[in-house]
Amino acid sequence: MSQSYLSLGSNMGDRFEMLRQAVSQLSKSPSIKVIRISSLYETDPVGFTEQEPFLNMVVQLETELDAFALLDVCQEIEENLNRKRIVRWGPRTIDLDILLYNQDNIQNDRLVVPHPRMDERAFVVVPLLEINPEFKIADNFEVEGVRIWKSYNDIETFLQDVQTELQ
Ligand code: ATP
Ligand code: MG
Ligand code: MG
Repeated sequence: MSQSYLSLGSNMGDRFEMLRQAVSQLSKSPSIKVIRISSLYETDPVGFTEQEPFLNMVVQLETELDAFALLDVCQEIEENLNRKRIVRWGPRTIDLDILLYNQDNIQNDRLVVPHPRMDERAFVVVPLLEINPEFKIADNFEVEGVRIWKSYNDIETFLQDVQTELQ
């Protein structure tokens, strides 16, 4: 059994529903068990800043899949939720990135783990620290542009919640 953390983000359409659907599809995947979810955070866009704020979260998984098969599942869910790649780091219905996979270091054209930009992204570090307090951050790490949007006590409550965001 392997342990992994994923980062999820959405800033197009009904962001809440995109995250909920993504976690639901992960948890229905036969070789994946979603162990823990962070709160949902609203975050200011970074990189390409002229776009709507994101909802972000981090989830912890246990899986029988190797890291590449897990990436396949993530990309399948992105396709199911109608992700279109138009602008790099631009608006998207959903983004699923593998942050960590066990203690593995993977350097491949398709997959780099730990995710190369995770340490500098408050929208990743804050939710990751919430569910994995052992994660080490730089002493001078600055948290900016990240606010709790909604917290859940457990995964089921999240998966059953219905919230319609104005679009
Ligand atoms: P960023 O990686 O900076 O967060 P992004 O998530 O917007 O950017 P995508 O368009 O989602 O980038 O993915 C581009 C490619 O990144 C994917 O086709 C995938 O093969 C590759 N990739 C490399 N490492 C990872 C990883 N750890 N998790 C997800 N995708 C990865
Ligand atoms: Mg990403
Ligand atoms: Mg991605």
